[in-house]
Amino acid sequence: MIMERTFSIIKPDGVKRNIIGKILAKIEESGLRVVATKTMHMSRREAEQFYAVHSARPFFGELCEYMTSGPVVVSVLEGKNAVASYRELMGATDPSKASKGTIRAEFGLSIGENTMHGSDTLENAAIEVAYFFSGTELVNSAK
Ligand code: GDP
Repeated sequence: MIMERTFSIIKPDGVKRNIIGKILAKIEESGLRVVATKTMHMSRREAEQFYAVHSARPFFGELCEYMTSGPVVVSVLEGKNAVASYRELMGATDPSKASKGTIRAEFGLSIGENTMHGSDTLENAAIEVAYFFSGTELVNSAK
């Protein structure tokens, strides 16, 4: 088991429904630690860059429109195997296919409005953390 950091977004549908606390509680209950967190409203350019890997997909425009439709909560999470364990806690992309007990199964509305983002690899986690947080915002929260 390796200590890792991963990157999380509570998407606009979660912030709109006032369930930030419920979601962060689930994250903490799973054993992950919130190293940094903040509310922000992504610009179109930020959303397009963040999801650049999906730019050729038919839902790209809809995705960027949605991610800029309201504030989001971006967080850095730390824990043992944080990348994989957070993906497991989030559940499948489509909430109707997500396993019982996962955040997306409980709160997700649709494949687009699926409440959460979590990095898919350790390499992408480092890129995504650096995209939204500066070094001085990242503390060692276990001390
Ligand atoms: P993730 O890693 O589980 O978030 O899934 P992906 O990396 O495949 O997709 C990124 C995000 O794009 C998802 O979390 C959804 O918000 C959105 N998305 C994926 N597939 C679809 C789709 O078929 N339609 C729409 N509208 N959005 C989608």
